[in-house]
Amino acid sequence: MGVPLLSDVPPSHPRYASLLTREKLVEGVERGITGLNGLIAQGRGEALDYLLGEVTTPPAEEAERAAAALLLLAERPVLSVNGNAAALVPREMVDLARKIGAPLEVNIFYRTEERVRRIADHLRSFGAEEVFGETPDASVPGLDHARGKASRGGIFDADVVFVPLEDGDRCEALVRMGKRVVTVDLNPLSRTARTSTVTIVDNVVRALPNLISLVGEMGGQREAELREIVASYDNRAVLRRSVEAMVSHLSRQFSTFEE
Ligand code: ATP
Ligand code: MG
Repeated sequence: MGVPLLSDVPPSHPRYASLLTREKLVEGVERGITGLNGLIAQGRGEALDYLLGEVTTPPAEEAERAAAALLLLAERPVLSVNGNAAALVPREMVDLARKIGAPLEVNIFYRTEERVRRIADHLRSFGAEEVFGETPDASVPGLDHARGKASRGGIFDADVVFVPLEDGDRCEALVRMGKRVVTVDLNPLSRTARTSTVTIVDNVVRALPNLISLVGEMGGQREAELREIVASYDNRAVLRRSVEAMVSHLSRQFSTFEE
């Protein structure tokens, strides 16, 4: 197929990271793990990442720290994986799951049994030990049948769900069940962003490595310190600062045009 090979693009190319990400998603589609809608979602994300300057901002860092604290404190954490996360950060999701002792659950918006199985196999090929999602036996209240499928021992019973790139409705339904929801979403204005307990406004390809090192760093901290990080975290304020980070990046860019 006419997919450009990464080897055709030198790492010095100014859009190298973004081209690499696109290539991984196209490969995900070809392997049957990413849906076509996932490509559109990535495009929307990229536009917002451009506004951020394609960096992890201070508010994103603060959200990542709170997310790491929540995951470390959780009794039954679960990491949810969709087709985009499986294509972009499979190794990192498996690594994070191992570090916090959590299972993974395949949870996709446009569900087909075939795609769920392929994603689960893909995660197992990176060493995942416990992957839920292939045989859901429960449903999240308030969602239609296909969208609400969940697993006991996995998302259905979790106290903290890490669900990068989740849809707003499903996020809301998990929060209504009393779960704490950590999401990664480059859109600070989306329903997902506004509903979650902790919203990391960062690209998932930067957020995952950051979370893995934070969990390693903070793993030795006292429980009381971790609780304090969670208690003093204000998601609305962090979202507001993420919007401000976009605005100030844009105005700095604009002033360099004018010089
Ligand atoms: P709403 O939640 O208000 O319905 P939405 O923003 O969820 O809207 P979708 O197109 O359904 O719209 O979901 C895609 C979301 O995923 C976008 O908000 C986009 O910013 C985010 N996204 C896509 N790719 C990435 C990525 N690589 N890293 C982080 N976020 C991403
Ligand atoms: Mg949405």
